Amino acid sequence: MIYLDNNATTPTDPKVVEAMLPYFSNKFGNASSRHHAFGWEAEEAVDQARTQIAELIHVDPSELIFTSGATESNNLAIKGVFELYARKGNHIITVASEHKAVLDVCDALRLRGAEITVLPVNRQGLVDLDQVADTIRDDTILVSIMWANNETGVIQPMEELGLVCSEHGVLLMSDATQAVGKIPVDPKKMGVHLMSFSAHKMYGPKGIGALYICNHKPRVKVRSQIHGGGHEQGMRSGTLNVPGIVGFGKAATLAREQMSEEASRLQSYRTRLEHLVLNEVEEVLINGSEIHRLPHVSSLSFKHVEGEHLMMSFNQEIAVSSGSACTTASLDPSHVLTAMGMTETEANSTLRISFGRFNERREVDQVANAIQQGVLQLRAESPIWEMYKDGVDLSR
Ligand SMILES: *Cc1c(COP(=O)(O)O)cnc(C)c1O
Repeated sequence: MIYLDNNATTPTDPKVVEAMLPYFSNKFGNASSRHHAFGWEAEEAVDQARTQIAELIHVDPSELIFTSGATESNNLAIKGVFELYARKGNHIITVASEHKAVLDVCDALRLRGAEITVLPVNRQGLVDLDQVADTIRDDTILVSIMWANNETGVIQPMEELGLVCSEHGVLLMSDATQAVGKIPVDPKKMGVHLMSFSAHKMYGPKGIGALYICNHKPRVKVRSQIHGGGHEQGMRSGTLNVPGIVGFGKAATLAREQMSEEASRLQSYRTRLEHLVLNEVEEVLINGSEIHRLPHVSSLSFKHVEGEHLMMSFNQEIAVSSGSACTTASLDPSHVLTAMGMTETEANSTLRISFGRFNERREVDQVANAIQQGVLQLRAESPIWEMYKDGVDLSR
């Protein structure tokens, strides 16, 4: 099997597993046990991991709150700001191509009296800075815009967004789950006040993530969402997941050491793949900005080919993802792609290919070949493709 769905989750790096193992066995202490060596040992490991993660994103370790993952971090950030800044206002700005872990939180807050503005993105998947600026009001308490998109890899202009938000005195939050560990991410430099990320998207374990909360210039606070015990500065109670945190820390160190080499290696795979596919297959589109894009992600649409069918044609050998969300029974086109102005049919004709640390160069040609074969075969069997090639106007 060739795994090319690294944006869904990454394999845990063996070095991460190795670092975690002792914390399941002889180093099992509770990091809050203040009165014996088992607790101290666990606490020390947590402190070290917190420092490793802080170094990756150039923040102070005290600005990191451990959570169960990016979904929880997004909940804590958005609900926590909504509750604590209620006196300033109830208006939140976000973007149509955000992850559901942001959009659904905003929807939930709407029921509690929040006013939510969901801004569009352009065909490239990018937000319009002027539009963000024009949408900020006196009662705006938060702008939430993701660093990089999970489906297209499109990278938003965080630095410019940071300037717009600080000019208007509004907090900026970013879901950076797909960016941290892959490209340089520096929330302080970019003027990002809150930032979510997750270990299992950067070769760490599942079930552990973090929220960065800026505590100096400005000192940002959120209302905690989980109470009991006062862990994590009272902002997220619950016994710390020590093995998970240790793995997260190790993953951060590995990312810091390998990021630039890895990014250019994976980018060369991506470039080769797109080159091969675009050369061999007609009517293929690359989705999203080709300039502002994560180096390892490729979202491709194949005219009049059902992405789901294409995926099935090689899913015994290759794991990728389609542009559709399998919600219960129906095939919903991706909200990210439709937000970029694609029709439902176009969105459903999409594959997302995301390379990762453990892919090899030879796999690229295999995948390009499988895509080419799959598309040719599906189109050969498709009356719609035949009509399209005959010049029949299918829009009527
Ligand atoms: C995966 C992902 C999430 C969810 O992260 P979990 O740690 O699985 O909760 C949130 N946002 C983005 C952009 C993601 O890619």
